[in-house]
Amino acid sequence: MVFSSLTYRNSDPVRKDANNDASACIGFLQRLVQTPSLSGQEAAVARLVTAEMHRLNYPDVRVDRIGNIIGRYGKPGGPILLLNGHMDTVGVGDPGAWTRDPFGGEIIDGYLYGRGSVDMKGPLAAMIHGVGLLAARGVELPGEVIVAAVVQEEPTEGMAMRVLVEEEGVRPDWVVLGEPTNMQVARGQRGRMEIKVEVLGRSCHASEPDAGENALSNAARLIFGLDLLGANLMNDAVLGRGTLAVTQLTTVAGSRNVIPDRCDMVIDRRLTLGETPNRALAEVETTLQREGVRGTVDVSNYRSVSYSGYETSGPEIYPAWLLAEDHPLLRRACDSLERSLGRRPPLRTWPFSTDGVYTMGMVGIPTIGFGPGESRRAHTSDERILLDDVNRAVPAYAALVVDLLHYLARPNR
Ligand SMILES: [Zn+2]
Repeated sequence: MVFSSLTYRNSDPVRKDANNDASACIGFLQRLVQTPSLSGQEAAVARLVTAEMHRLNYPDVRVDRIGNIIGRYGKPGGPILLLNGHMDTVGVGDPGAWTRDPFGGEIIDGYLYGRGSVDMKGPLAAMIHGVGLLAARGVELPGEVIVAAVVQEEPTEGMAMRVLVEEEGVRPDWVVLGEPTNMQVARGQRGRMEIKVEVLGRSCHASEPDAGENALSNAARLIFGLDLLGANLMNDAVLGRGTLAVTQLTTVAGSRNVIPDRCDMVIDRRLTLGETPNRALAEVETTLQREGVRGTVDVSNYRSVSYSGYETSGPEIYPAWLLAEDHPLLRRACDSLERSLGRRPPLRTWPFSTDGVYTMGMVGIPTIGFGPGESRRAHTSDERILLDDVNRAVPAYAALVVDLLHYLARPNR
């Protein structure tokens, strides 16, 4: 096909001679891992990202209102490809469960260890250096690539992308998420929502429990009912089954010798394709009625302040999404990566949630995922990433940018 040979010629220079840049990328990744960046506390990592983009000669680097770092390269006015990577990480968890320093960035047997190494400072470093390759070689693009290093993905995925699109006016045609895919290509994920249930009872002295109605006992009945509901949720052939898990239960009682008249329950609900938030809420309400439990069912709200002081809030709803197998973004990305990696990357989905809940799930911007590292190592102790994958991802991202932008810029595509 004419187009294939054209893109091959365009993107080929960035695939060659990428080795010289590899050690610089690994050094940068090490500094990222050695710099803690819990959600809402990404300032120090944001400074590292900004400095590295400047050092790599990105022509345009800025920080937006919520603290995302936006690096641009290419020709404004044409199509826009956005590469997304989040700067925040989850906490370390039990430090005793680690055999390596979570902030050491140690390299052992080809792996770099530390919190955030795979989720997702490794992929982020590779994306930043991939576009750095284009800048170093002065590659001319028929459009623009934006590397968006975003904040607060772990607690409220998609929120920083919403600010970028709706408040900062960045309008990408296509999005590539760098969340780890083990060098495969991801095309979707289940969504999620957090549901809060207020279970009611009637308080009385605990010495005469029959005089009241124990909200905890009601909650226990409800949990059994919810387990039954959870076993019968919708299934999607690609994304799998929706799930439901009660993850928190707290009582609101005056003291420990009072029958509690209220307890608050939190439900983690994973939504598969076809399940809507309203449907999920109605299912829980029906379960309350069936179990004869009084209470209210609602969506949880988040409220957060970014390191730059920007406040956001909204419902904890993150829709499922799946890009069609024959979508040009998916086909072109696989063509490009096949040439970079020497084999056609298999398609997959993610078990966890990503910023794609906004880009594809809420506003329908075609989105895929490609990133070095194994997703099963995310959020675990001794989190680590294979450096060989990071090194291979750098020129692969560069070539992907060239190939996808040339496709997007074609007339009558
Ligand atoms: Zn992640």
